[in-house]
Amino acid sequence: MTDFRVGFGYDSHRFAPDRPLVIGGVVIPYELGLSAHSDGDVLLHAVCDALLGAAGLRDIGTYFPDNDPTWKNVDSTKLLTKVVELITERGWRVNNLDCTLILEKPKMKPYVDAIVNRLSELLMIESERVAVKAKTNEKMGFTGAGEGIAAIAAVSLVR
Ligand code: MG
Repeated sequence: MTDFRVGFGYDSHRFAPDRPLVIGGVVIPYELGLSAHSDGDVLLHAVCDALLGAAGLRDIGTYFPDNDPTWKNVDSTKLLTKVVELITERGWRVNNLDCTLILEKPKMKPYVDAIVNRLSELLMIESERVAVKAKTNEKMGFTGAGEGIAAIAAVSLVR
């Protein structure tokens, strides 16, 4: 019998000037980036937490504490690669990933394919096992006010 797990992740970051906007490992041209100890890749952080949760591990902050200078401005693809190692060591492989970005701006449509491809490389799965969606929050709440970006992710793992 196949052992099967589901994991869920959430993250949000506030917009900040003079920072690159990196989402799903892809640099998005925009006048604002995301404030964070790392590069602020809100989507990869949600994906990391989903993977860790599915494997029954602790949250992303446990493995990459934001008071550790090692992770200052770190490229979050490095964090995701480390998380994939942690789950692979435990015998898991990723079955699929589904995620949603919640933001008013910038429009993500031109970048979705690039993000899907980057995630499929990082997770070592076919791109048809990766889904990335983006939607606005209809101007409600912090994402609606354009204060920042939120991301949610669901993964399944098999072993
Ligand atoms: Mg984060």
